[in-house]
Amino acid sequence: MKTAICPGSFDPVTLGHIDIIERAASIFDRTVVLVMQNSRKSYLFTPEERAAMLRKVTAALPNVTVETSDRLLAAACADMGDVVIVKGLRAVSDFEYEFQMALMNKKLNSGLDTLFLTASEHFQYLSSGVVKEVCSYGGDVSELVPKEIHEEIVSRLRRK
Ligand code: ADP
Repeated sequence: MKTAICPGSFDPVTLGHIDIIERAASIFDRTVVLVMQNSRKSYLFTPEERAAMLRKVTAALPNVTVETSDRLLAAACADMGDVVIVKGLRAVSDFEYEFQMALMNKKLNSGLDTLFLTASEHFQYLSSGVVKEVCSYGGDVSELVPKEIHEEIVSRLRRK
């Protein structure tokens, strides 16, 4: 049984992430969304908060589970069995970094492949960073994030 691992910060999850997760879930038997924690990055939401939001918005997808990890992705995947990393690729912005990461993960774990799904046309511009920036200045992000978590994101950002 092949499992897709969708890793990311998801700080917070956007409709662009959900698009990739849903597509991975329709291709693979099982999909694990892995909420990563990088000690050199600062986040708006804790890993548990990010995972809780993801669980809420993926509740209707029976073959999707959400986990958190502060380990190296290649090492975490090595312990998860028969897995493939699935990532979304937005136009040119993601290419260089993702290409480098895919090759590095393969070097660290030779059995580990990365599969790229092209970002949907209408989500090419969308990132968690854009959501935080727009929302913190009072802009409307209701069409950029899942409706179940929209209020939570707005109240956190407007408090800052
Ligand atoms: P970001 O902060 O850029 O939203 P994440 O680290 O949370 O990034 O992203 C996790 C994965 O989701 C990455 O593979 C990234 O390319 C992908 N992703 C992020 N936003 C989108 C989007 N709008 N469409 C498709 N894939 C996306």
